[in-house]
Amino acid sequence: MADQKKLTLQEKDFSAWYNEVVVRAELADYAPVRGCMVVRPYGTALWENCQSGLDRRFKETGHQNALFPILIPMSFLQKEAQHVEGFSPELAVVTHGGGKKLEEPLVVRPTSETIIGYMYAKWIRSYRDLPVLINQWGSVLRWEMRTRLFLRTAEFYWQEGHTAHATFEEAQEETLRMLDVYADFAINDAAIPVIKGRKSDAERFAGADASYSIEAMMGNKWALQAATSHNLGQNFAKAFDIQYLDRTNELQYCWTTSWGLSTRMIGAIIMVHGDDQGLRLPPVLAPYQVVMVPIWRQEEQKATVLETVERLRAELAPRFRVTVDDREGMTPGFKFNEWELRGVPLRIEVGPRDVEKESVVLARRDRPGREGKSFAPMAGLPDAVGEILAAIQADMLAAATAFREANIHEAQDYEALKEIVADGWARAYWCGDPACEARIKDDTKATSRNIPLDQQGAGPGKCVVCGEPAAEWAYWSRAY
Ligand SMILES: [Zn+2]
Repeated sequence: MADQKKLTLQEKDFSAWYNEVVVRAELADYAPVRGCMVVRPYGTALWENCQSGLDRRFKETGHQNALFPILIPMSFLQKEAQHVEGFSPELAVVTHGGGKKLEEPLVVRPTSETIIGYMYAKWIRSYRDLPVLINQWGSVLRWEMRTRLFLRTAEFYWQEGHTAHATFEEAQEETLRMLDVYADFAINDAAIPVIKGRKSDAERFAGADASYSIEAMMGNKWALQAATSHNLGQNFAKAFDIQYLDRTNELQYCWTTSWGLSTRMIGAIIMVHGDDQGLRLPPVLAPYQVVMVPIWRQEEQKATVLETVERLRAELAPRFRVTVDDREGMTPGFKFNEWELRGVPLRIEVGPRDVEKESVVLARRDRPGREGKSFAPMAGLPDAVGEILAAIQADMLAAATAFREANIHEAQDYEALKEIVADGWARAYWCGDPACEARIKDDTKATSRNIPLDQQGAGPGKCVVCGEPAAEWAYWSRAY
């Protein structure tokens, strides 16, 4: 970590900035197999904090975790026509095992609807068995040629929820409930404002009746789909014979859903909050919420400073994730830069004069320079730290929200839309015709992000492309 060369400026090359931050903050690294990534301990700690925030919400809404196998018979994928069509170019196929050619090739799971559908058909017998509410934490593999750490890798880590219900209404309710869970996590834990909406038919999950997403605006004004929730209708139930006996003893097909959030979320956290100094992590998710840097000039000051820091650390540790950087042979300035690059929300500096005055210096990562610095008495430090971390969390959400609002514009006509999506998001009426959507994509590279659930009073309007009547807005932008 001796490399303290300045990062490429975001404005100069956002993509280069992103790659440098991921590697230099030690979140992830490139694996020897092209397209795969290694998530390093710091990145894993961040993902674990995402996991615990989500897992708690999944359990509060009645879900249980289970683990399904990574290998799926090839024939399973072929059972649902749209599903196999959607995934076949991305499949990694195992043809040999134990030194022999397999009778049936096995697919490394690109997602688990098929294998879980197969098991649900065995487990579900009657309406009393419903709903089945299961989530799996794991990884999946989709053969990708153009990859970016966290944003698009062949193997990535995620959770996939799979549920089965007696009625369409219950499945739809579940689909939207989990969209709400994702939005709540994004907003309150990741400090990322998101827009909940329905995907267009072209952007829908292969095999779903309806797909919904939360969309977030990155620092370069591109969009990132941060999570999806799908109402699968009876498509997988019919393909896998997931049936139940209803109250009148009639055999019915189940209605199923699936929903997922992946390590792409880490990419979103980096790109929403990061600045030219590096990462800025929201306190709720940061692996270290506080870094303490003891400072001394003369050797005889060292013992007192370190003793004081240790006493304060012990007071903070029960409530916060704290680390102490007492490495020798590095200047405080070097350490400050490094922890700024790694995005720790709050730095506490303790020097000989602070020890005398019984106070410390607090430096907020979200407010660089003098503006973010303050003094706090050592007495009652945990409460002061708690308040400041809460303020950082709230201010990061507010800043990301203000940035997004400043960069969403209503497009009255097609010329305006083209201009807006060159550097922001357009909100525009769309008739729903895939041809109009395809034209926007061809002309501008912007895609329909989603059709927001909150239509904000949109009345009948005219499609921004063809001028035909349109009932709903959609968001349009470049996207990851
Ligand atoms: Zn149209």
